[in-house]
Amino acid sequence: MGRVNSLRTKLVIIMVLLILALMAVVGAFLISGVSRFYIDRFYDSMEQTFSQDFQRNLRAVAEESDDPPAQLKEMLMAQSDLGIDIATRNVYILDENGKVLASSSDETEVATTNNLLSAMNGEVGEGSSVSARYMDLAVPVETAKGTYIVYILDNRATVDDLTGEVLTIVLRSLALGVAICIVLAFLLSRILITPIRALTIGTRQVAAGDFSQKLEVSSHDEIGTLTRNFNDMARVLQSTLTEVENERTKLSTLFLTMTDGVTAFSPAGRMIHYNPAATQMLSRNLDPAVTFGELFGEEANFADIMALKRPDFFECEKHVGDRELELFMAPFATEQAHGGVLVVIHDVTEQRRNDQTRREFVANVSHELRTPLTNVKSYAETIISSGSDLPEEMRNKFLGVIVNEADRMTRIVQDLLTLSKFDYGKMEMTFTRFSLKEAVQHVCEAERIDAENHRHTLTLALDEGDELPVSGDQERIEQVVMNVVSNAIKYTPDGGKIRVSAGRDGKNLFVLVSDNGIGIPEKDLPHLYERFYRVDKARSRQSGGTGLGLSIAQEILNLHNGSIRIESVFGEGTDVRLSLPAAE
Ligand code: ADP
Repeated sequence: MGRVNSLRTKLVIIMVLLILALMAVVGAFLISGVSRFYIDRFYDSMEQTFSQDFQRNLRAVAEESDDPPAQLKEMLMAQSDLGIDIATRNVYILDENGKVLASSSDETEVATTNNLLSAMNGEVGEGSSVSARYMDLAVPVETAKGTYIVYILDNRATVDDLTGEVLTIVLRSLALGVAICIVLAFLLSRILITPIRALTIGTRQVAAGDFSQKLEVSSHDEIGTLTRNFNDMARVLQSTLTEVENERTKLSTLFLTMTDGVTAFSPAGRMIHYNPAATQMLSRNLDPAVTFGELFGEEANFADIMALKRPDFFECEKHVGDRELELFMAPFATEQAHGGVLVVIHDVTEQRRNDQTRREFVANVSHELRTPLTNVKSYAETIISSGSDLPEEMRNKFLGVIVNEADRMTRIVQDLLTLSKFDYGKMEMTFTRFSLKEAVQHVCEAERIDAENHRHTLTLALDEGDELPVSGDQERIEQVVMNVVSNAIKYTPDGGKIRVSAGRDGKNLFVLVSDNGIGIPEKDLPHLYERFYRVDKARSRQSGGTGLGLSIAQEILNLHNGSIRIESVFGEGTDVRLSLPAAE
């Protein structure tokens, strides 16, 4: 409040100055008006008194009198219209040279004024001036005895008193006016300043981000409109801010959850943003101290990226550990001061691995098919070129080989078809409730001849009372058991022991096929389910294997919520355990 530049102080100063100016003008007009009025009245009454008749009288009196000056003085003093009161207005009788002959006051001399000079020249001197300190009138009275000058001099004490009075009134009203002004200024400022102060507090709150306060609109004037507009502005600002905030939350959620890594750098090359995916892909802690050079200095030059024009971007690759990353870099604003470089990181490890697997798979398929095809071709050519020279026995043997190889190709193609159906989810399964025990018995019966051919002892150990009910595709499950049993037969040297058992294990049913065959080296165990993976390729091929059996078995069991586990000691034997959920 005490500050000079506060609105209230300014208002007080302005109003006081205003009243001062007003009173000065009014005072000046009043005082000069009073003076003028008094002077005009003086000369009007003089004019009325000094009529031609009166002047003639004066002359007559002067001529008849023994002491004309005294007589004239008495006569004039007796003239009440002239208002000779000695104190302020006096009458003097002078001779034509301006010498005082008689006077109503004690003064024996008077100043030679313009009016007096006129009278000395025989004219009535009645000029007036507001600024003069006196008012006077000089009338020459020409007689035979000589010329007398009647001189009336007013020292203006009355008008000075009056103007003094007026001045006092003006000053008093000025003082009162100033006092009223100050009070008014305070009241006015209260009316004006209170809403402005509320607005000030409001703006401060809005600036601090608090939009909850709604200012009360108490008037319909400009300040009321301003307050209303302020409330509107705060509302719009709040909704805009909420929108922006929503947008930001959306973007930051996207930024945080996106699978691609994103990092952003300031024009100085310092990290300004990064998301969890980027931290994970780059396998290091990221913080604002990290620079572009540290992370991607080997792959790209920061200045070159900054110089790129939209929509150009720079693409490169980076290896982090066993990850392969694809990097896309671009400047993200044209204004360098607010821009920087954005790097989007795409993890292509899996994609590359899949590409590799696909390539290997195609190579494997080609290789697997080429071998039997070569055999078929060479045997067929031999038969053709030898013609009738080839003994019947040989020809039949060759034809047998051709049929065998054709069978093998058919098996491979069939297995591949089955796998591709699994891959595309097109495998049709007919789920029924059946007895796993019967299925195992069925498979063993079918495999028995093959086992006997290899002089294996195939024993079957099954629970007597339990049918081992299973819900699934019987044909497919039998295919899995068959594959496992036939593997045991294939990979066990002749005269081996193969034991097939089945039973319950809690909520699951199991089929366990154990052999005392060649076994599997530990390092190969994790790869057995890969397509075309075989420990000993020659042996597998020789025994008619495709290297796809266990892959198919695993796919089938997955669809039945089952599993397969292989335990083996190289050179001693293998245990393959299939597990399936039991039907209710
Ligand atoms: P294959 O058609 O070659 O038998 P599988 O997918 O059925 O293909 O088996 C993959 C590989 O696992 C086989 O080539 C073999 O090396 C190994 N294998 C499977 N079962 C046995 C087993 N009982 N004893 C030893 N090795 C086995």
